[in-house]
Amino acid sequence: MNDIRIYNTLTRRKEDLIPRDRGKVGIYVCGPTVYGYVHVGNARPYVFFAVFTRYLRYLGYEVKLVENLTDVDDKIIDRANKEGVSSEEIARTYSEAYIEDTGRLGLGRPDIEPRATEHIDEIINLCRELVESGYAYETGGSVYYRVREFSGYGKLSGQKTDQMQHCELAREGEAKESPLDFAIWKAAKPCEPSWESPWGRGRPGWHIECTAMSLQYLGEKFDIHGGGRDLVFPHHENEIAQAEAVTGTTFARYWMHNGMITRKEEKMSKSVGNIFLLREFLGKYDPRVLILFFLSSHYRSPLEFSGANLEEAASMLERFRNCFWKLEGVLESARTGPANGHGDGAAASTAVTAAAPAIADSSESRPLREALERSEEQFHDEMRDDVNTAGALAALFGLVRSINEYAEESSARGADVDLLSEARDKLAELLGILGVDISREEYSGAGLDDELLDLVEQRERARKEKDYAAADEARDRLAAAGYEVRDTPQGPKLVRKT
Ligand SMILES: [Zn+2]
Repeated sequence: MNDIRIYNTLTRRKEDLIPRDRGKVGIYVCGPTVYGYVHVGNARPYVFFAVFTRYLRYLGYEVKLVENLTDVDDKIIDRANKEGVSSEEIARTYSEAYIEDTGRLGLGRPDIEPRATEHIDEIINLCRELVESGYAYETGGSVYYRVREFSGYGKLSGQKTDQMQHCELAREGEAKESPLDFAIWKAAKPCEPSWESPWGRGRPGWHIECTAMSLQYLGEKFDIHGGGRDLVFPHHENEIAQAEAVTGTTFARYWMHNGMITRKEEKMSKSVGNIFLLREFLGKYDPRVLILFFLSSHYRSPLEFSGANLEEAASMLERFRNCFWKLEGVLESARTGPANGHGDGAAASTAVTAAAPAIADSSESRPLREALERSEEQFHDEMRDDVNTAGALAALFGLVRSINEYAEESSARGADVDLLSEARDKLAELLGILGVDISREEYSGAGLDDELLDLVEQRERARKEKDYAAADEARDRLAAAGYEVRDTPQGPKLVRKT
């Protein structure tokens, strides 16, 4: 098994990942509270843990990724009351929207996406055990966790209970023993969803939901608990307190936290009011731009959602695509013979002529061959070092540069087709691990409107007749329809713009 090191928030250092069960990794990630459309900041843990999971699977681990949806919460109830609908309806609407929006990223889904409302029995059992063992107490129909009772409290966030300001207000008619104590079960108020419990009707607190669901699906001492950095305190600290008080052993062994997405250096959040919705983003950009935007910086760093950073991500995708499709073009003309291409002279002038491997000079291909090995090694070194996707992308850009250089230099004499084919496959494979499918959404005619194809033909005709104004006009009309024309050795190709 290949080793990987990850930064553990609990120990504040990078550690080798040693799974509880050999060859298997269990990961629990805190998902969204479904009271509105998710924003781009909510998508960061979704994307990061999906990519991390893909990489672990690539290394040969069997991974179980659990990502919950919080579907009963104060925020959901508030919104339902404001809109005059049931909180079940709000939760259902936005759970579906979340699944749809994140689904469009093309990263697949977590293995299990549990909902809090489907785990009420487990949650009540956990609350009961905490009350029976003295770690929690009932008052006025609510149940509170006795923070001072748990000696390990503060070990994740580094906070000391005697200096803690954290205080969750008690509900009406209740008396908490200490301001530090937090609710694990909340007595029902009118117009709130509620369930029967040993303490009367009520609903779970947020922290106990994640503890119950992670223990149910992954068991004691599971491998990795993840989420946004803003969840370290109090959410994750409280999860540890609840779980370890009941099980008497370690809860999650590694804690991974992603940095926040900021806008003008403030955390993107609904309460700050500076959010950019994921569905709004995906209406304007290729989903791969968002993935590359996230991966272009280390997952633990804050990341500014700015026009410049998005443009940078879009141009990354463009560079990868250009390289990949240039190789496709060369390999295609090697298969069909250069004479069969229907591009005009101008279109083919920038392209590489492919030749049989026997003709290619092996000393010319050596730099690319070496770059292939080096880039792959560097890619894995970076990924194994706390999932440094920014470094992994840099390795892939090194490979792209070498491919381009080789293509330029070998154009006069003919390129090594096998080597180029290997380079194309490697680039696609490594980008695929990062969740970026480089071969997707390339349009070369099939399935396009006749109108668009007419425009492509008009442009070609105009270029041949050197009527550049007419050629530009056709190009602009295609651009307005969302397509870019790219000239390849096989003739023009339409590419949907990112
Ligand atoms: Zn959680």
